[in-house]
Amino acid sequence: MKVQVVGGGPAGLYLAILLRKADPAIEVQVLERNAPDATFGWGVVFSEDALGALRDADHETYVAITDTFARWDRVDIRYRDRLLQSRGHSFSAIARKRLLEILQQRSFALGVELAFGCEAKAVPAGADLVVGADGVNSTVRRAHEPEFGTRVEPEGCKYVWFGTDLVFDAFTFVFRETEHGLFQVHAYPFDERTSTFIVECPEATWRRAGLHELDEDESLAFCERLFARDLEGHELFSNRSIWLDFPKVTNASWHHGQTVLVGDAAHTAHFSIGSGTKLAMEDAIALRDALVRRAWDVEAALVDYELERRPVVERTQQAASESAAYFTRVAGYTHLEPIQFAFNLLTRSGRISHASLTVRDPAFTRTLDAWFTGASARVAPPPVFAPLQLRELQLGNRIVARADAEAVSGAGLVLSGFVAVSDAGRISPDTPTIDEWTPAHRPVILQLGHAGRRGACLPRAVGVDLPLPAGWELVSASPLPYGPYSRSPRELDEDGMATIRDAFVAGTHRAAEVGVDVLELDFAHGYLLASFLSPLTNRRADMYGSERLRYPLELLTAVRRVWEGPLAVRLSVTDWAGGGLAVDDGVAIARALVEHGCDLVHTVAGQTVHDDRPEYRRSFLTGLSDRVRVGARVPTLVGGHLTTLDDANTIVGAGRADLCILDLPSSDVERKVRAPSEPAERQIAQT
Ligand SMILES: Cc1cc2nc3c(=O)[nH]c(=O)nc-3n(C[C@H](O)[C@H](O)[C@H](O)COP(=O)(O)OP(=O)(O)OC[C@H]3O[C@@H](n4cnc5c(N)ncnc54)[C@H](O)[C@@H]3O)c2cc1C
Repeated sequence: MKVQVVGGGPAGLYLAILLRKADPAIEVQVLERNAPDATFGWGVVFSEDALGALRDADHETYVAITDTFARWDRVDIRYRDRLLQSRGHSFSAIARKRLLEILQQRSFALGVELAFGCEAKAVPAGADLVVGADGVNSTVRRAHEPEFGTRVEPEGCKYVWFGTDLVFDAFTFVFRETEHGLFQVHAYPFDERTSTFIVECPEATWRRAGLHELDEDESLAFCERLFARDLEGHELFSNRSIWLDFPKVTNASWHHGQTVLVGDAAHTAHFSIGSGTKLAMEDAIALRDALVRRAWDVEAALVDYELERRPVVERTQQAASESAAYFTRVAGYTHLEPIQFAFNLLTRSGRISHASLTVRDPAFTRTLDAWFTGASARVAPPPVFAPLQLRELQLGNRIVARADAEAVSGAGLVLSGFVAVSDAGRISPDTPTIDEWTPAHRPVILQLGHAGRRGACLPRAVGVDLPLPAGWELVSASPLPYGPYSRSPRELDEDGMATIRDAFVAGTHRAAEVGVDVLELDFAHGYLLASFLSPLTNRRADMYGSERLRYPLELLTAVRRVWEGPLAVRLSVTDWAGGGLAVDDGVAIARALVEHGCDLVHTVAGQTVHDDRPEYRRSFLTGLSDRVRVGARVPTLVGGHLTTLDDANTIVGAGRADLCILDLPSSDVERKVRAPSEPAERQIAQT
């Protein structure tokens, strides 16, 4: 068997080693365009979980790599005039040059044919397996781009990758305000003499600072000046260090015929979570395993390889993209107090939570908890147990339960479920109207709405958006039916708008009478008020079409006039549909709501149109809440499959929301033990 590997980076060399180790009869040739000691970049970080797989795959390289490692367990965050430190993170780093040296030596020892200074201009022919390990700009991938389904998109900030002879003793983030905007640094040591020093900033800041007009030396001098205090008199070094965009590479398929992609050629993960080299080397392990398992049947092995690796890689890419996006927005968080800013940074990609940080670094979360709850004592409850003040109302904690959930007791607030403002505003005949509804629990947030074109349906237990055979007349911003089976609504005229606005006002009076604590107007999920907000559902020719917020804001103003308590709006921050509201639009709407008296935004998403493209996953609404909270500076309420107190502590503690809806699974931890003589039915009835 003959294997041709294009690219002698970590992925290509490690694969060559593993293949020769698995079967010395296999011919493996690596083509590398550069000389052995020429490489880009400085040091690369490995997190603790990367190392186990390397140890098992090839002990010799594992020992050589780990013997060279610079190791540390601290993250330092320099922000405003503070230094915040978090311990227990366990990182290691190695010079990229040294890593390649180790891999090259091991390759030679195992009989890999290494051809340096050999650039592949096309996919090499004549091998049983061709491996594209030629990095982010892969020639192999480009030769079959349509078959691989390649997408390359820039993500994150502009960045430049320097080295420095200042040896940091922790992974160090630096945030520096300038008149052009915020710059940040990711720096870490990788041997006893040198550290990596990556500088980044959003493109607009980069342009304002004139960096697009500076050459390599000038931009290095700019960065040395800007971070002089952090560099403590040391220099920055360039290794072809120019400002770049980070390309996010994805491929719909990683193999085509006898050709397979590994490492950066197949997928990239933003450097801010330091996983690219690890992913590249793990790809090599998975490909070797698949070939061995399939007895060198290339076709079967390539399918196996991809099936095994893709979910792991996609999860990492997701976390990396979230981290990259965070750094483009980080200037928006600079109103946060240092301890919360630091917690927000540490939890940015969802891989560290309040609970896991407590295990790593109890002192850090203790400090956060004490700051959050305003306690001067050293022992304080975690963030969700801090009270929240909304106007005159003080909520005991940050947990919101659905009225139909088991977990109502103990929650700081109970969510009513949809209550219609009138008979004609019901979703289905079993939707309560405000005239007949009374709160079963307190304090309660009443979700008051009008179903609009999603009304007159069979009960939700039967199915969603299935029209009643003989329903009532529907109204909406425009006469567009909701789903394929829905009936057409009538376009609401100005008299109709006034009637419904008055009904909301009357509903508000009634809410006050029955003791509602927080009133929430439903502007979400394609119901009546939402239908005015979205360009997909509001096609009106009048001023309520040219100013889509006009009617919802008029209604909000009318309610605000008569409601003195906390007033919330439930808002679909994005439509998740082409041509609809994007997140930036949602944030702009939230700002307008706040200007018109809204005290709390309940962030949800989608359902504006029936064929939206939802992005459901655990905690899927948290990012939207974060955007609204920062962009409109308003308290937010968020749900989205949050199932643990830890989820809520992380979200609230990091300032991504103020209240969390918890969907606690029903607990069957404790049950009565059945006596042998008791019939089974009785035992079930008693649990
Ligand atoms: C700023 C920055 C910081 C990073 N920090 C980290 C970090 O801390 N931790 C981490 O794990 N990862 C980090 N990475 C990512 C990491 O560098 C890559 O994910 C990793 O190098 C991928 O390995 P690879 O072997 O797939 O590709 P590469 O390392 O890019 O290797 C590809 C090789 O192929 C060669 N080649 C290309 N085209 C041809 C051709 N046509 N013919 C012959 N040879 C060719 C190239 O010369 C190169 O040697 C960082 C990346 C960047 C940009």
